[in-house]
Amino acid sequence: MKITQRKIDTITPYENNPRQNDNAVEAVAKSITEFGFRQPIVVDADGVIIAGHTRYKAAMMLGLDKLPVHVAEGLSPEQVRAYRIADNASGELAKWDKQLLPIEISELQQADFDLSLLGFDEDTLENFLVGLDDSDASADGPPVETDESLANADAMGYIEAAEHIIVQFSGGKDSSLVLNWAAPILQKLGKSFEAVFVETGAEFPDLTPYIIRFCESRQVPLRLLQSRENIILHWFKKNSWPDSKYRDCIHGFINDAVNRVFVEREKEFGVGKVLIMRGGRSDQKTTLSKSNLYQEVGFGKHTARLLNPFFNTSAEEYDAQLEKLRPQLWNGYELGFIRTACWACPFQRKDQWDALKKHYPLLAEEMKRFARRFNWKQYKGDKTFQRMRKYWLGDAAAATDGSAIDDSNPIGEE
Ligand code: SF4
Repeated sequence: MKITQRKIDTITPYENNPRQNDNAVEAVAKSITEFGFRQPIVVDADGVIIAGHTRYKAAMMLGLDKLPVHVAEGLSPEQVRAYRIADNASGELAKWDKQLLPIEISELQQADFDLSLLGFDEDTLENFLVGLDDSDASADGPPVETDESLANADAMGYIEAAEHIIVQFSGGKDSSLVLNWAAPILQKLGKSFEAVFVETGAEFPDLTPYIIRFCESRQVPLRLLQSRENIILHWFKKNSWPDSKYRDCIHGFINDAVNRVFVEREKEFGVGKVLIMRGGRSDQKTTLSKSNLYQEVGFGKHTARLLNPFFNTSAEEYDAQLEKLRPQLWNGYELGFIRTACWACPFQRKDQWDALKKHYPLLAEEMKRFARRFNWKQYKGDKTFQRMRKYWLGDAAAATDGSAIDDSNPIGEE
């Protein structure tokens, strides 16, 4: 591309320029002062501006005498007109990566760079720096109002009888809803309670910050636990994923850690006085804790008492409450993720893996590496793993199993 320096008075703005740019002139002038003129103005053969009106006005404001100019030759009048619009429109279509932009901005801030030169207004900058954007920062908001009667009288009876309540919080929709609902009620009842979140080593990078903000904004004491071993290292060592039927990941890594807190609290509050509360939709009875309103489950010499307070809540009511809370939920749902836990979980839907590829390409590469390395023989005939193998390694690799791939029965949301 040929660029020449031309006197500013040989250039003419296009009189019907459809783009209103006066608000941006000052910011562009600041940028030119700081960084210099790094992008030429594009003009037609007569010196009429096709692209670069704001830079031109900024140069006038700064009193510049000459400008770098590129003459777009060989375009028809219609092409020039179209290019003038397309040049502005394509900038509007592009979006900021809400994960990467705040990192870039905060690194500039740490280097004491003048952020006003970036051209964002103060509020927008602040939003980027406190979280990712408006929607994500909203996890800081106060509890979304819910009706106490969302849980029935039986559920309230178990809550009132308990001396201490552990809310098992995964950061997912269901447990966020239950914690949002329970926090003000338990505070009003003067109950001792806490949220417990277990980090396994396979969470999405922004999940723990969400967990912390969600609890802080509701004044809920949070126990942040580590699983007994990093789950990714564990899978690497045994060269395979968890068991698809027994779900040894949930029992061995998450419930095991929560049970340790349960035992500790029973020592403090008395046997039979501690209740573990979990989230779950009324129509989602896939796990033990979701198969009834209240369960007693033995482990070692102990008996955990589990309450699913929304067990009897109608699906309509449940969904309506979830909809109200949606703006405060983990930002990943906006990006297309279905579930919060374990980016390397083998029991996922295609949409979840598509979102992983799109938003966490490095983690998706790791998934592929696992898929190449792990031992598949043990999964022969297991439809969950056939589905996964097909997704990550393609049809040819999947076909070596000798069995048809079944896309049905992906697990539901957590
Ligand atoms: S997300 Fe998947 S791998 Fe992780 S604990 Fe849950 S079922 Fe297991």
